[in-house]
Amino acid sequence: MNQKTDILVIGGGAIGVCSAYYLSEQGRNVMIVEKGEICSGSSYGNAGMIVPSHSIPLAAPGVVSKGIRWLFNPKSPFYIKPRFSLEFFSWLWKFHRACNRHHMHRSIPVIRDLNLASLQLFEKLATIDGLDFGFEKKGMLSIFNSKKGLDEGLEEARLMQASGLEARILSAQEIQELIPHSRVTAAGGVFYPQDACIIPQPFVTETARFIEKKGVQIQTFTEVLGFEITDGRITTVKTTRGDITAKEVVLAGGVWSPEIVRDLKIKLPIQPAKGYSITYHRPHRCPELPIAMAEAKVILTPMGDTMRFAGTLELAGFDLSINMRRVQAIINNVPKYLPEMHHDSLNLIEIWRGLRPCTPDGLPFIGRPPRYKNLIIAAGHAMIGISLSPITGKLVSQLAAHENTLIDLTPLRIDRFG
Ligand SMILES: Cc1cc2nc3c(=O)[nH]c(=O)nc-3n(C[C@H](O)[C@H](O)[C@H](O)COP(=O)(O)OP(=O)(O)OC[C@H]3O[C@@H](n4cnc5c(N)ncnc54)[C@H](O)[C@@H]3O)c2cc1C
Repeated sequence: MNQKTDILVIGGGAIGVCSAYYLSEQGRNVMIVEKGEICSGSSYGNAGMIVPSHSIPLAAPGVVSKGIRWLFNPKSPFYIKPRFSLEFFSWLWKFHRACNRHHMHRSIPVIRDLNLASLQLFEKLATIDGLDFGFEKKGMLSIFNSKKGLDEGLEEARLMQASGLEARILSAQEIQELIPHSRVTAAGGVFYPQDACIIPQPFVTETARFIEKKGVQIQTFTEVLGFEITDGRITTVKTTRGDITAKEVVLAGGVWSPEIVRDLKIKLPIQPAKGYSITYHRPHRCPELPIAMAEAKVILTPMGDTMRFAGTLELAGFDLSINMRRVQAIINNVPKYLPEMHHDSLNLIEIWRGLRPCTPDGLPFIGRPPRYKNLIIAAGHAMIGISLSPITGKLVSQLAAHENTLIDLTPLRIDRFG
């Protein structure tokens, strides 16, 4: 069957659904196609943090040497699976080149501005009647249980302060006062009051339901297979449920984005970085605040009547298997910071893994690829795709309307790697 729409969004994760939201706000006729269910990719089981505090790009000085040190440790929070792939080598090389001070200092204001603008949009979305996704702006506490970790954390906090973000440095006693009902073991910490959190799955599915009621067409279990092109325009999108003609196409396919546009000869250096989350029923003495256990790279997010731990970053391709050693490492690390929090005393709901779409320089791709007049790409948000989803959606809608964008998109352009 041949269908028509004004704008076709490929991918029903946080980025695709937010793009559809802001496009439909402009009164455009919008359709989303999603190969599975809405929110079945990385947007489902993540930590749900909205993090101006995470405005340092993944590609930062020292990351490569840390990665190499952890390379052969099956329980480490960062792991690179050795494999022969030219694309992967090329990505690693670009990543290595981006891990420098100059790039970090240039990127912090870009990510900060995206994060702060997105936070404002989240605040607005949270006030919409019928759209409940557990938005809470109560900050995030980063705790450190080693002197070395604390020193690194304080350096990061000063970087964030220098870029205009709030970061309060806390002693062990001040941390304990902030979360009085849970015993904490920490050498010190940093409180980031501007951070917020949501429950990611209802955020995406409820927003999708909300826009569907407003007329957005949502086609699940519809996989994009290819495109027909005439004079630099996508005329037809070929899917498993027939062809769709659209005036404008938005690609928001997360880690699958490079594959979707491979035939268009667009090279998107995005690598999947697997992470895990473990969700429990909320225990009686759950900390009220989200807590980052910094050295272990584990985040605890209280989410309604549940509590979630999330962590690890595995560059292992599209391997979606669950490595229980790494899951166990997350679980075992928690009592090193919160000694009363033991897996055995908690009531498990779900172990999940997802693939973060990582670019080599830690910045997403948001923009139009030069060779195609009616394609917008919004992908590669790595560890901050939930945080940046509303602002990305807003920017996509501005690109589609040929308006000036709220934020300069030059650092995020699609062809920045040539
Ligand atoms: C453990 C973990 C914790 C995280 N914690 C946080 C956090 O606290 N805060 C934060 O901001 N971010 C976090 N992230 C990152 C965040 O989850 C991602 O950046 C974000 O979900 C990416 O959204 P997306 O819409 O681009 O991708 P996805 O959610 O993966 O959506 C892409 C969609 O495209 C669909 N698709 C793919 N191919 C096709 C096709 N051919 N046709 C049609 N549809 C297709 C997929 O099925 C999928 O639903 C975390 C990630 C992980 C793994």
